[in-house]
Amino acid sequence: MNEIENARSKAQTHNIKAAKTVAETVKSTLGPMGMDKLMMDGGGNVIVTNDGATILRELDVTHPGGKMIVEVAKTQESLCYDGTTSTVILAGQLLANSESLFEKGLHPNVICRGYHEATRMAIKFLNEEITITSKERNDLVAVAKTAITGKTLENAIEDVAELCVAAVEKAGDAESVKVVSFPGDSIQDSYLYDGCIVNKDYVLEGRDEYSHLVLMNTGLENEKSEDNIQLQMNSESFQSYKASSKTHLIESAKRLVEYMPEGGVVFVRDNVNDFVCSYLKKNHIMVVRRVPESTLRTLSRVADTPICQTPEEVEFCAPVKIKREKHNDVWYLFVNGELESNVATLVLRGATSHTLDEVERGFDDALGVVSLVMNSKEYVIGGGNSYARMSSHLRQHAAKIGGRAQMAIEAFSDALEIIPATIAENAGHDPLDVVLAMRHEILQGNLTFGPDVENGGVCDMLKAGVIEPASLVKQAVQSASEVTNSVLRIDDIIARRPTQ
Ligand code: ADP
Ligand code: MG
Repeated sequence: MNEIENARSKAQTHNIKAAKTVAETVKSTLGPMGMDKLMMDGGGNVIVTNDGATILRELDVTHPGGKMIVEVAKTQESLCYDGTTSTVILAGQLLANSESLFEKGLHPNVICRGYHEATRMAIKFLNEEITITSKERNDLVAVAKTAITGKTLENAIEDVAELCVAAVEKAGDAESVKVVSFPGDSIQDSYLYDGCIVNKDYVLEGRDEYSHLVLMNTGLENEKSEDNIQLQMNSESFQSYKASSKTHLIESAKRLVEYMPEGGVVFVRDNVNDFVCSYLKKNHIMVVRRVPESTLRTLSRVADTPICQTPEEVEFCAPVKIKREKHNDVWYLFVNGELESNVATLVLRGATSHTLDEVERGFDDALGVVSLVMNSKEYVIGGGNSYARMSSHLRQHAAKIGGRAQMAIEAFSDALEIIPATIAENAGHDPLDVVLAMRHEILQGNLTFGPDVENGGVCDMLKAGVIEPASLVKQAVQSASEVTNSVLRIDDIIARRPTQ
């Protein structure tokens, strides 16, 4: 076996091929002119999406090399909400470039070391030179728009971007923004609701409006004994045993009625006995059972009231505005408090549930990136500009490293340019021309240029408002480099015994 074949084992070749195939699958979706994918399972269920994370999640990947790439997309999605396609394409390109280094006789470990060093240099440059500090609210709107461009949401880009920024500003971060979608109407009819929306099956029909609520982190049913005990009793004592627990429940229900004489809604985490429900209904109290604890906490913030841990703790009810609405045959309760709270619910509207799912994914990305920039105050110029600048920096400094690792740094530098190249290519322009034009502009000191997707060539991305969170690009480069190194280090795939 000659040296080259030795350096590149069979497992490596296959892993790289599988990883590249995964990257190739999502490549055409990148950027504002990216296309959508229609995915269908054996049962004929269809998803239409442009979202890299969703495509990869639904992709039936069996090869371990491909699976590693899918994992990296998941990490990117969970940390930065967006940038999954870029991460995967970059990883694919890093692996492709490593193949030509293998052919030149570089050992995988040398490539890994070079890539590692290149990542360190690129991130340092990104932090020190490329990152811009966000000073105004308009930056957040621009970040939202960049994330939305090329998605279903684009038709309503102005409204959607504004809505996302307003929601994140109110809630503080993306995780605290609740999203509810109702089919019907169009995206433009989406709005920000100043409160919490609960959809739970109701135990009882009720009125359309209420003005008080009680939150209970327990149930209203016969007490379950803590231990698994057996009782032996005759039918008489059994009747009195049953009656005593019933009396206890009725007492709890009476307390609720006492504190909510005008009626209201009780949100209960566990179950509620039917006779308690009917007693409460007679007294104009609606019961919503099996409410998740997280919803109870949100409701508690909206109504500015504590959650009672036992029925005995109920001492007052909180004044709120509760409205009942039916959407798509499901009843929803809209709850908003008297005081200003930091709870925000985005109500999304869209024609069909297919488009609505994609709208929801677009909103998730946009909310995420807005919250990243709002909390870190750091952004970079989009359209692959930051990648091209890191690339130029690496190319200039690779020679300083010397030795064979220098070749790996140059390969890393070339790979970074795949992002602007693919954005241009997907828009129908020549990727090479765009990359060369961007290199030229950077050398001239014009540091804000990126692919002009409308007219071809390059244009000023900052003027066009194409900006994205700095942490998104940083994470994309780090994750892509890490997964590349892991794939390159594997030289054999061995069957392991099934986990028990
Ligand atoms: P990802 O899953 O990586 O976020 P997208 O399909 O959302 O993939 O594409 C994001 C890329 O498109 C980013 O690099 C972003 O800067 C770029 N982009 C967004 N809007 C524009 C635009 N108007 N012109 C050029 N590039 C853009
Ligand atoms: Mg995106």
